[in-house]
Amino acid sequence: MPTYTVINPATEQPVRIVPSTSAQETDAAIERAAAAQVSWRATAPGERAALLRAFAAEVGAHTEELAALEVAGSGHPIGAARWEAGQVRDVLAYYAGAPERAFGRQIPVAGGLDVTFAEPLGVVGLIVPWNFPMPILSWGLAPALAAGNTVVAKPAEMTPLTAIRIGELALAAGLPEGVFQVLPGKGSVVGQRLVDHELVRKIVFTGSTEVGSKLMADCARQVKRVTLELGGKSANIVFADADLEQAAATAPYAVFDNAGQDCCARSRILVERSVFDRFMELLEPAVLGVAVGDPGDPGTEMGPLISAEHRDRVASYVPDGAPVAFRGQAPAGPGYWYPPTVLAPVGADDPAFTEEVFGPVVTVVPVEDEAEAIRIANDTPYGLSGSIWTRDIGRALRVARAVETGNLSVNSHASVRYWTPFGGFKQSGLGRELGPDALDAFTEVKNVFIATK
Ligand code: NAD
Repeated sequence: MPTYTVINPATEQPVRIVPSTSAQETDAAIERAAAAQVSWRATAPGERAALLRAFAAEVGAHTEELAALEVAGSGHPIGAARWEAGQVRDVLAYYAGAPERAFGRQIPVAGGLDVTFAEPLGVVGLIVPWNFPMPILSWGLAPALAAGNTVVAKPAEMTPLTAIRIGELALAAGLPEGVFQVLPGKGSVVGQRLVDHELVRKIVFTGSTEVGSKLMADCARQVKRVTLELGGKSANIVFADADLEQAAATAPYAVFDNAGQDCCARSRILVERSVFDRFMELLEPAVLGVAVGDPGDPGTEMGPLISAEHRDRVASYVPDGAPVAFRGQAPAGPGYWYPPTVLAPVGADDPAFTEEVFGPVVTVVPVEDEAEAIRIANDTPYGLSGSIWTRDIGRALRVARAVETGNLSVNSHASVRYWTPFGGFKQSGLGRELGPDALDAFTEVKNVFIATK
């Protein structure tokens, strides 16, 4: 049987050998999910809600265990990993409120009654990337289950451990067999079967734009519903009137979070030219102050990259002679470490400025004015995240409306909350996750007219 050895990115030591699911096993799991969906959708809304609450509580009772698995299997700092496990609990609890509120409408018609129902789709396939194995799993899982679908999830090959454990916790919480299954394995095998199998009625894919666009074309053959959460190359725009101290102090966390392996990484900092030098003076100590090291240490803010191969890819954006303005520290010895690195000045065609690096590398460029900031921010095929720093509320709103991106923060680097919508413009994706309307992506409206005469 083919297997995959999960490696600890901080030590390069093996953590666990995980069996890789075959295409035949994937088909069998999809058939189990379809069979389980019949009774799951018929389960009384209050009972489904109670089961989701129990699932949330079970995850909550195992946050430390899940966090430790993410530290070992993905190299996430323990503080971040605890937050990520807590996010799974909170997202499940939030959508546990949904089954009892999946209202339809009553629409006035002559000669009868017209009502709508929000019907579940059937089996939903979740395809998850390696960068945030827990939160991203929960963003699709919780609303899909709440709406009455069953779920087959495929974690990324490199980071399956927490998803496998969350699958066990679902059963321990009382979810019936087949309602939520986790299939570790290859994208080209398990992922592709989820995409191709006719009983899977929706795919939620989070990953690269390259794989996402191929998968969208494959889904089109069966007119299969799809939500895509893809790559990003987001801008952090700092105007001269901003609180520069705060903007500079938080800029590293907007891009180096999860060692830059973050779709929302604001890896282009655009600074109004009149304050560029001052901003760089303030940014340097903030970057040098990022605590990089042992992910198990509660003081650590940034861990290693996921693999040696990925580190090589990140390093290729900083070739010999690259304009390194300053860079932080990284441990020597085993582990896929890469220091937080600031590039300035960079040319407009520098790949570090135009491509998604997915590592702790940020470019800083001066801009003349608001119009140029907007033009450069939008000069990318992506549109996922972004930040704007200014004390001028009118400008904040003007720029927020003009930047073609799905999630913006003003005078803050925090961009994701599970109770607000999340998703991308342009090639950063299709559809929205999270927030109060997330169930819409996991249901179809059915309209029924009942004659009264
Ligand atoms: P990836 O596209 O290589 O893989 C993502 C998932 O798809 C993995 O589980 C992989 O096994 C699977 N897969 C690969 N080929 C497949 C196929 N042919 N059919 C079905 N599934 C297949 O991406 P990655 O390297 O794991 O993740 C990094 C990317 O994800 C970055 O571009 C990042 O920006 C993006 N991302 C986006 C968001 C978001 O919410 N927009 C969040 C996190 C990551």
